[in-house]
Amino acid sequence: TTFKELGIIDSLCEACESLGYKTPTPIQAESIPLALQGRDLIGLAETGSGKTAAFVLPILQALMDKPQQLHSLILAPTRELAFQISQAVEALGALIAVRCAVLVGGMDMIPQAIALGKKPHVIVATPGRLLDHLENTKGFSLRQLKYLVMDEADRLLDLDFGPILDKILKILPREGRKTYLFSATMSSKVESLQRASLSNPLRVAV
Ligand code: AMP
Repeated sequence: TTFKELGIIDSLCEACESLGYKTPTPIQAESIPLALQGRDLIGLAETGSGKTAAFVLPILQALMDKPQQLHSLILAPTRELAFQISQAVEALGALIAVRCAVLVGGMDMIPQAIALGKKPHVIVATPGRLLDHLENTKGFSLRQLKYLVMDEADRLLDLDFGPILDKILKILPREGRKTYLFSATMSSKVESLQRASLSNPLRVAV
């Protein structure tokens, strides 16, 4: 298969090509068509499987279809992973001028607040710092959010982000929002997060 056959639009296929992605990986081949149908997804996949593009491509395609600011939020357990994901968003979105902001702990809040003031399309964040901005950065709201991704959900919960995730989920809109949860492993904690945040999800595993 090709990305085009999965339903990916030309400008994003071109971006894949320029990154050297010739054929979709198994997790991409399974999840992209379901995501493009508008389903919530649980992806069981490890790092190295190509999971990042599996959720970034459908998000960027939806953004192209209906452009808006503060369109998508991607939550990651660590700063390093958050920066890696934002690099993938910028690389895959290079041809469509996507604006992406990274909100992570251990760094000054003010430059992040200024980045939010520029109304990025995509936010990549660690949970604690996102909640801090939701509670303290004036004018920042995710009322219009269309996509939520929780990447490496098992690690998010191992790092005790559970209570913070619960608070974030209470703030985010549920109506009209699509949600993807990716995890290397399934546990009862991951399952309860899944029940709290996804609607009628499909499972894809590689
Ligand atoms: P990930 O599992 O998302 O961390 O991706 C692992 C690595 O695979 C990253 O360096 C990606 O750039 C690369 N990658 C993702 N999708 C593809 C693809 N379809 N073909 C070749 N490489 C890919």
